[in-house]
Amino acid sequence: MSTDDAPSPDTAPAAPSVADDRPSWQWPESVWRGHAEAVRAGRSLTPPRWPEAARVAVALSFDSDHETIPLRDAETSPGRIAQGEYGARVGAVRVLELLERFGVPATFFMPAVSALLHPDEARRYVREGHEVGVHGWIHERNTLLGAEDEKTLIRRSLETLTEVTGAAPTGIRTPSWDFSDSTLQTILDLGFDYDSSLMADDEPYEVVARGTATGLVEIPVDWIRDDAPYFTMDRFTAVRPYTRPRDVLEIWKDEFDAAYRDGGVFQLTMHPHVIGHRSRLVILRELLDHISAHAGVWFATHAQLAGAAREQLDRPAVPTEPDA
Ligand SMILES: [Zn+2]
Repeated sequence: MSTDDAPSPDTAPAAPSVADDRPSWQWPESVWRGHAEAVRAGRSLTPPRWPEAARVAVALSFDSDHETIPLRDAETSPGRIAQGEYGARVGAVRVLELLERFGVPATFFMPAVSALLHPDEARRYVREGHEVGVHGWIHERNTLLGAEDEKTLIRRSLETLTEVTGAAPTGIRTPSWDFSDSTLQTILDLGFDYDSSLMADDEPYEVVARGTATGLVEIPVDWIRDDAPYFTMDRFTAVRPYTRPRDVLEIWKDEFDAAYRDGGVFQLTMHPHVIGHRSRLVILRELLDHISAHAGVWFATHAQLAGAAREQLDRPAVPTEPDA
């Protein structure tokens, strides 16, 4: 809803024309500023107190991409597909067992094609108290798509996940966190409560579009708190990063410990086909042991975390003076 004199919270202001073919070092201020300020972090939405009087919020997420990564790239060889299949057949099963053992909820962002290939898995997430969020149709790259195609795919993904699981997703994570010039408007148009694809803070914030607050909650992510860059490799290129799982455990423990000291959020992104391997799942177990040994930890799905953050939107921006 909007009035004539207030910006609508559901509509991002139209982008001014910032197209400029010159090299970036020749851009005038209007162009570089236009790009930098298109999508910004606004108000911090960390509540003064977390639910259950907790000291830290812990939000675990798993992107159940499975076969969609090779399929997206039209890499159809059974060898590549099998790597994704491992995520469904082995990884997700182990992850669910581990979450059950610790009694903690998580959010599973699932491409619609992955949910159609593994409908029982998608339904099991919901049945076991976890959240399923939108993660594109076939893990498409939004910055390579036109605005209409992007919107069509996200809408179809939302409808498909709702149909498969019986629960309508309220959150979105763009595949590969690839956020195009039209992604924000599409997310607002489709009525999502939150996004989890941007990186401007450690803590939840309100997304601002060209200076106008949108009312959209951002649950920020980062590659530091993602298993994929540490462990994945490409057989036929020089891309072979490899980190010892226990080194990653140390990084993630440091991230959690600092979030605990700050009274903030510890958010983690993993993939069943990556973290689900034996030598890696052990670090998730040890991380959960470490976290669970602390008092005042609120384990939340991303939707629950976004709900707590969203309440901060109703807070007056400036504290009002008490009556004299
Ligand atoms: Zn993904």
